[in-house]
Amino acid sequence: MLITKIEAIKKEVASKRANTTIGLVPTMGYLHDGHISLIKRARQENDIVVLSIFVNPTQFSPSEDFEQYPRDMDRDIRIAYENEVDYIFAPAVSEIYPPNYSTFISIEGPMTQGLCGVSRPTHFRGVAAIVAKLFNIIRPSSAYFGQKDAQQLSIIKKLVKDLNFDINIVACPTIREADGLALSSRNVYLTEQERKQATVLFQSLKDTEAMFVNGNKDAVKLKHHIVNQISTKELAKIDYVEIVDIETLEKMNVVEKTAIVAMAVRFGSTRLIDNIILKP
Ligand code: AMP
Repeated sequence: MLITKIEAIKKEVASKRANTTIGLVPTMGYLHDGHISLIKRARQENDIVVLSIFVNPTQFSPSEDFEQYPRDMDRDIRIAYENEVDYIFAPAVSEIYPPNYSTFISIEGPMTQGLCGVSRPTHFRGVAAIVAKLFNIIRPSSAYFGQKDAQQLSIIKKLVKDLNFDINIVACPTIREADGLALSSRNVYLTEQERKQATVLFQSLKDTEAMFVNGNKDAVKLKHHIVNQISTKELAKIDYVEIVDIETLEKMNVVEKTAIVAMAVRFGSTRLIDNIILKP
């Protein structure tokens, strides 16, 4: 069932809440196999699955791609039903942010200031606002997020802990193309040549993992290796490459605890992110 109004989805879910588990999959739509893997996991683990589709304006800065962000609601609805979603919640912007909307959640410290927070300083306050609103509207038992957006995932786990949401956050592995490129709705922006060169992201992450497995725990050396490898592609412009603690997102010098190797790289106007987890 497709629902666009907050009161309507609340009523639907409330009528089914007793003795049922509710899995929420928040997305911005233009669904691909990454999103579908989250839906499938939610379907396996819950009685009711709610898929939200909402391109959230508050997580885009004025210079970013909110207007151009790819959208195809008819296709998304078809994919949702093929994957046995019970409710698609696809509200209008005015439903989520009525005039004079003014509440945001600021997650302080390195979690939001580093990595994508450097070039997108207002991004995570918008993410936290929409995720908290969806959690309050749907009140799911579990919510499903991709490891692809590693910083977002760590921040949402922190939000749930700090604000005592009674919701289980399920991290789902990154789904990739055959050549390793992480699936993203933004991949459609890439030209043929950019698409070819973009495989360097995952290649450099795999090579780093191999170096780490062979005993190299020096974060500076690992980082240098990635930067050098990506720099061989003339269309790639590195935004950042960092190695951080998976929980606090603080930079590490030596990889002695579970770490995320995270990167953002621009190809033309398209900004791609990717990451890999290193476990000592
Ligand atoms: P988005 O629509 O890009 O906001 O993504 C919605 C959810 O899907 C987020 O939890 C993402 O982390 C997740 N996601 C996006 N791409 C992938 C992928 N390639 N593999 C796994 N999950 C993904």
